[in-house]
Amino acid sequence: MVRDIAEQLKARFSEMGVEVPLEEIEKKLDVLINEFRVPIEEAKRSVVSQYVRAPKSADLVKVKDIQSEGRWVSLKAKVVQLWPSESESIAQAGLIGDETGTIKFTKWAKSDLPLVEENRCYMFKNVVTDEWQGRYNVKLSRSTEIIPLEEDIEVGSLVEEVMGAIVDIQSGSGLIKRCELCNRALVKGSCGEHGKVEGIYDLRIKGVIDDGKIVQDILLNREIVEMLIGITLDEAKEMAAEALDQSVVLDAFKEKLIGRYFSIKGPRVGRYVLVEDIKSAPKISDQEVKKLITETEAL
Ligand SMILES: [Zn+2]
Repeated sequence: MVRDIAEQLKARFSEMGVEVPLEEIEKKLDVLINEFRVPIEEAKRSVVSQYVRAPKSADLVKVKDIQSEGRWVSLKAKVVQLWPSESESIAQAGLIGDETGTIKFTKWAKSDLPLVEENRCYMFKNVVTDEWQGRYNVKLSRSTEIIPLEEDIEVGSLVEEVMGAIVDIQSGSGLIKRCELCNRALVKGSCGEHGKVEGIYDLRIKGVIDDGKIVQDILLNREIVEMLIGITLDEAKEMAAEALDQSVVLDAFKEKLIGRYFSIKGPRVGRYVLVEDIKSAPKISDQEVKKLITETEAL
């Protein structure tokens, strides 16, 4: 088992340009795991930290150039968004971006780095790239240096394109009411900020699209919903009035969308892609069907 882990680590080191004899890694792991009873993950981390150090100054790259994991890079970027921390081990997390797009960052609590502020620009020296569910992100660690910049960086909005099946329509979709004062969606007739209000009707879809590799949250506004479903806001209000139930609208949306294939396009904002363009997409193209038939015939 120690040998398997050693082989994994050796492969990882080679990818990072560090060649270490397998026996050497195995011996270190063996001492930690079998002699000192260190948990496996901890032992791996310890061995990795002995060999893999951040370079003095990693290459300065653009966000769009981050296409592999486990690479040390430096980025000049603006903090676009900070997210509430999900765990005690994370000091800060959010989105940073440059002219070429945005990328998620995570700053470990152990890194002891200064806090970054939204809308400010920094040089992030020596961050390590990582991948999660098909998307790249960067991790800020003890080896990272954060230098505030005076210049402003224009962040390019990264237009995302996803082709896949809509697998869920979430609550808060359909015929909804918004607060007339702040535009927030009401929950049970109440605004989080202004309490009980009259509200104005709106149509919205919060959905999830799955392209077979990743699942992506999507948000569709009234214009897009009316176009896609073929029901206007007024018609939706009539449907709800007739049924004495607002949820008939949501049911109609679900019926039309869930399990169907679409190609969507729009800018990413936080965890959502704001859909500006949506087309129904065949599951497989005619060309692919022809290709499959030819291949089957050849068997
Ligand atoms: Zn309000």
